[in-house]
Amino acid sequence: MQNTTNTNEQYQYGERQIEAMPKKEMTLYNGQLAGYISSFLGVFSFLAVLCFLFPTYLTTQTLREVYNPDFLKIMLQVGMWASILFAVICIVIERRRKLAIVGVLYTSWAHLLGGYSINYEQATDDVFSFGFDWLILAFIISAIICITLEKTFPKYKEQVVLRPKWKLDMVYFSVNHLLITGFMLVGNWGCHQFSWAINEDFQAQIRTIPVILQFLIIFMCADFILYWSHRVFHIYPKLWKFHAVHHSTEHMDWLAGSRSHMVHSVFERSLIMLLLFLLGADKTVVDTYIIFAATQAVLIHLNSDLPVGWLRFILVTPQFHHWHHASDQPAIDTNFAAHTVLFDRLFGTYHMPIKYWPKKYGTTKPLPQTYIGQFLYPFKD
Ligand SMILES: [Zn+2]
Repeated sequence: MQNTTNTNEQYQYGERQIEAMPKKEMTLYNGQLAGYISSFLGVFSFLAVLCFLFPTYLTTQTLREVYNPDFLKIMLQVGMWASILFAVICIVIERRRKLAIVGVLYTSWAHLLGGYSINYEQATDDVFSFGFDWLILAFIISAIICITLEKTFPKYKEQVVLRPKWKLDMVYFSVNHLLITGFMLVGNWGCHQFSWAINEDFQAQIRTIPVILQFLIIFMCADFILYWSHRVFHIYPKLWKFHAVHHSTEHMDWLAGSRSHMVHSVFERSLIMLLLFLLGADKTVVDTYIIFAATQAVLIHLNSDLPVGWLRFILVTPQFHHWHHASDQPAIDTNFAAHTVLFDRLFGTYHMPIKYWPKKYGTTKPLPQTYIGQFLYPFKD
């Protein structure tokens, strides 16, 4: 809800100007890449050892069910040695030595707590826990895949990985993953308030449908729900203040999508959980949808012009969603859908000049630039 005008025939589209940040460029030659790899691996090794020590409280139950502790210990060993190796490279290159020191310190603490020869404590199920394991896994996998995509198919080549406010988005990424169990508990509680609406005959009917069709039903129903809930958050000023947090990022990339007010995240996730709860589709279909939706949500924020071809006319792609984040006048309050472009086309909010990308991202009114400041922002007048 930045402005109500969607169309502007006179609007001049143009190229976005990116500030050059040569000092933030991460290359092996300037020691910065080695320093960050060392420090991240050091911190993650330390957290991983804590996970081995207190699995009941620091790891997620769903992931625990598929873990092979011996394999994880080998991964921890690789991580700890790699942290030391990259710290040495960083020190030899003589740049960003502080990062190397962080890496060595955390790896040493991980070693002192038992390191990769630590014993695996048996976890107790059904206890509230933080998702430290989920944070480590999601960060490493997302960073490798997304940064590779962004470097292979860049949209704004000049935009560095360490662009302004990346640390704030890293806080959002961490909180979202650490509190995964809390989000699920709230969602489950919300779903069970609607147990009365479950129709077992209807659910049995759904499960007789071929799995591809079941997937399509979930996909389209979720898209419809997400379209309208998103649009409502843009329309009503009180709700917009929650959603404005997500729009406050001025640099789109793999971390930018994590920036979202907790109230808005919990609400959206609970809506989708309720849909899945009431439909009662096949578990494999539900799992496939969740993986697809989570992946698409990250990809559409990438600083990347992915070679999606004709799919851009069907699915929500980076270009489509970048326009949603634009502060260019004709794009304001457009492109609300999460999965396909259908509902924006149908309800008159589609905006995608194929030749252009936004000149500027962010909200027209500036927001606080800290996690706490943004958390409190919607509660203030
Ligand atoms: Zn929005």
